[in-house]
Amino acid sequence: MAHVNVFDTTLRDGEQSAGVNLDRLEKVEIAKQLERLGVDIMEAGFPASSQADFEAVKEIADTVRGCSVTGLARANKRDIDIAWEALKGGAEPRLHVFIATSPIHMTHKLKKTPDEVVEKAVEMVAYAKEKFPHVQFSAEDALRSDQDFLVHIIEKVIDAGASVINLPDTVGFTTPDEIGRLFRYVRENVPNIDRAILSTHNHDDLGMAVSNSLAAIENGARQIEGTINGIGERAGNAALEEIAVALKIRQDRFDFETGLVLKEIKRTSDLVSRLTGMQVPGNKAVVGRNAFAHESGIHQDGMLKESTTYEIITPAMVGIDSNRMVLGKHSGRHAFKQKAEELGFELTENKLKEAFESFKTLTGKKKEVTDDDLFAILTDTQTENEDQPKYELKAFQVQYGSINRPTATVLLTRPDGEEVEKANTGEGSVEAIYNTLDDLIDADVHLQDYQLSSIGKGRDALAEVHVQLTVDGVKASGRGSAQDVLEASAHAFLNAVNRTLYRSKMENYQKVQV
Ligand SMILES: [Zn+2]
Repeated sequence: MAHVNVFDTTLRDGEQSAGVNLDRLEKVEIAKQLERLGVDIMEAGFPASSQADFEAVKEIADTVRGCSVTGLARANKRDIDIAWEALKGGAEPRLHVFIATSPIHMTHKLKKTPDEVVEKAVEMVAYAKEKFPHVQFSAEDALRSDQDFLVHIIEKVIDAGASVINLPDTVGFTTPDEIGRLFRYVRENVPNIDRAILSTHNHDDLGMAVSNSLAAIENGARQIEGTINGIGERAGNAALEEIAVALKIRQDRFDFETGLVLKEIKRTSDLVSRLTGMQVPGNKAVVGRNAFAHESGIHQDGMLKESTTYEIITPAMVGIDSNRMVLGKHSGRHAFKQKAEELGFELTENKLKEAFESFKTLTGKKKEVTDDDLFAILTDTQTENEDQPKYELKAFQVQYGSINRPTATVLLTRPDGEEVEKANTGEGSVEAIYNTLDDLIDADVHLQDYQLSSIGKGRDALAEVHVQLTVDGVKASGRGSAQDVLEASAHAFLNAVNRTLYRSKMENYQKVQV
């Protein structure tokens, strides 16, 4: 079977999803999980876009050893130099440089002639190759580019040192048949194509990203790019877990394999979903809550007799374990530590102590603490910025009645350590809390979006809230979990505000599409 490299861009293209902003510790936590999942290459960010992105990419490159870490750069020396500074400590530094090749992009965005685009691409690939052992070139909007122009520019950039050629469907426009023909055409017409790997990168605007990726593989692509849960700009990217499982389940049809450890899919999906706030729809392939549920009586009967009658993927294959041990209030520190490791967390002594305390508090309110609860506690502890000054909720009280206007009283510690208290009202309980918090914070805060969900099942399930705010005009998202909905709401609000305090520089912050 031919091997297909997996290039994960959850931390770059996925992070570009509307409403998603991951901070450094969250990105590092996802990066460690992607390494465990067995991706070949991870795109950690776009270092020249902001100081925060630079720092996150650098930390990931310096931490991850099991795969190649890459970063995005536009075709200019400044972007490439900054990317090198971020990536040079990596196990296998790799640059991902791109330029648009479609007539519509060259004319309107770049304002360059095709010859000027080729010249720029060649010059920048050669420049990058002086520093990086691996250089990937992407022809942005390749699927709307002229095929012969693509053949020409690909030959030139391979000569200049590019070892991976990516042909992205940037706008999610192509079909399986069309992308298959393009890959075949390039393979048959670029004379030096044997010196490079062809890569496919698809967006899901027409719902065909996964099918298009599979068609590209069948026609010569040996690298697939995508994200976990298919998150990404607009309708998102190809979902890597779907491609990997499709190749595995339909081995009879596809003679290709990836190096992904399929059992790590569930944990990766959960982590990405929780940290980004991009919830996985119940009916999503491979990782949706209902993907393995059988409601119809006929199906259930068949399943009991022989599971393969209606089940083509077993939950165990993707890491869904149904009979796990739960912890209760008598579980000690040792059992907790063991469970944390089993759930894939490597905690420092300090963080372990902190997580254990949260767990103990929860056992006072909840009889059984499930894996879902523990996963939430451990993720929160692991990604908490301990040493940063921040706003912290000390106590709050809400008075609610169906006739009176709700009033909230909140006690808060400010980043400078001072304790402050205020009360305010709102149309509902959450609004009363948010109005009070807004009064206590030195910034102009506006709520853009609010989402509430439960972690696990049952009346005593934890509540999880994701919010999007603007804080002094800067977008920030936050999450909070607690057993009470109002407390989770307050935490999410403060989490978003605190994130804006950590960002050292917001200038130059810009995202690009590839
Ligand atoms: Zn993309």
